[in-house]
Amino acid sequence: MEFINEEYIYSLLKDETLNDIQLQRETIEKAREAKGLTLRESAALLNITDKELLEELFHAAGEVKDKIYGNRLVLFAPLYITNVCVNNCLYCAFRRDNKELKRRTLTLEEIKEETEFLVKQGHKRILLVAGEHPKDSALEFVGKAIELMYGVHINGGNIRRINVNTAPLSLEGFKILKSFGIGTYQCFQETYHYETYVKMHPSGPKKDFAWRLYAMDRALQAGIDDVGIGALFGLTDYKFETLAMLMHAFNLDEKYGIGPHTISVPRLEPAQNAPISHNPPFAVDDLSFKKIVAVLRLAVPYTGIILSTRERPALRRELFKIGVSQISAGSRTAPGAYKESKESLKEYEMQQFQLGDHRSLDEVVRDCCELGFLPSFCTACYRSERTGDRFMEFAKSGTIHFMCSPNALSTFKEYIIDYASEETKRVALDFIKNEIEKLEGPTKTKALKMIERVDKGERDVYF
Ligand code: SAM
Ligand code: SF4
Repeated sequence: MEFINEEYIYSLLKDETLNDIQLQRETIEKAREAKGLTLRESAALLNITDKELLEELFHAAGEVKDKIYGNRLVLFAPLYITNVCVNNCLYCAFRRDNKELKRRTLTLEEIKEETEFLVKQGHKRILLVAGEHPKDSALEFVGKAIELMYGVHINGGNIRRINVNTAPLSLEGFKILKSFGIGTYQCFQETYHYETYVKMHPSGPKKDFAWRLYAMDRALQAGIDDVGIGALFGLTDYKFETLAMLMHAFNLDEKYGIGPHTISVPRLEPAQNAPISHNPPFAVDDLSFKKIVAVLRLAVPYTGIILSTRERPALRRELFKIGVSQISAGSRTAPGAYKESKESLKEYEMQQFQLGDHRSLDEVVRDCCELGFLPSFCTACYRSERTGDRFMEFAKSGTIHFMCSPNALSTFKEYIIDYASEETKRVALDFIKNEIEKLEGPTKTKALKMIERVDKGERDVYF
């Protein structure tokens, strides 16, 4: 645990000089260069309370996001394969002691059906999620599920990237997981505050703080280039959590030459028989949550920031503007919930936590366009081996725009033709026209050619 230096974090949290408005303003200016921030600078920005300065902070984060990722928002959906779990996390409905939860592990046939549902909605990326159980989420089973999910093809539509959010594995385990052809491996530390961690995880393998903390080291050593970290906000002081998570990111960067590919910012939502979730010890209000996202964007500008449907649409819209780069849409957090209707399934009896955004993918896509964000279904990078440090090279050199804009436009056009409602089509086609107009030179030529191929019926056009 040597790299989570609690003492240093506390010294920053107590440092009165970091409340200085002038210093905070200068730090925002520096952050605009999109070269990242130190922990100390990040702490200064987390301390901002001045209303005007907060607006400057959000604006700077939006600018940096735009500079690096443009107005693209990558879309995905989670697929829960089991809610059976041996752990007892006090905040989660899947915890072993929740006897009221209906337990269910999908069969391979059911996983196929869930995937088919998502493919028919137009999704191209899935996040596979599972409780921790030696049998119900065994590595072999996960492997079979992934193979099956990649194998679903419906009228040119298919899942082209599967990210995984499952319990940490051994080095050998991660090597096997990599061989399944996964995209990002995600695992959230939940809280980096050791004492809180111990309280929140009273039993099961997850009790072991260090095993989880070093999961990303093992994953990277096993050759999984893209790893995603996260903290569950609400368990401890958000400033501590944000700084500790940044320490984790910096540490991975120092050791392996690549930081995390993504950072997730789940916030505690009410969950069945999980008392902590109904009354979070350190509930994070919306404004502080926006600050967290903005500071992360400025501190690690090249890292993707993932926002889930835990949050309500209105807040999600605001967060798009200040740094989020990937979002889930049309999500369900119970195994089997996509295929079965809400009524027949009694989803709440099986789901992990309550959602804030219940809109369909089609509605979210339309909303993104209306807000000026380009929904992207692109999965090109990892399929073209642009992962890890190679992805960072493209991102840092700015070449990313040359590839990502055409890729986002061609995959979005594919979505519009194959899946969008008439209402969304109307909005989206105009939006695409405007996006093309914004491009110049070879990027524009490339985008036009790729879109033309999609219009002529070709699918999965990317480079
Ligand atoms: N079981 C594995 C684990 O814990 O790492 C993998 C998946 S777990 C189902 C996914 C994530 O859901 C957890 O890491 C946690 O951050 C989040 N989560 C759990 N309970 C939550 C709640 N009540 N509100 C919001 N997010 C929650
Ligand atoms: Fe199990 Fe993960 Fe929920 Fe904890 S957060 S109870 S490990 S599913």
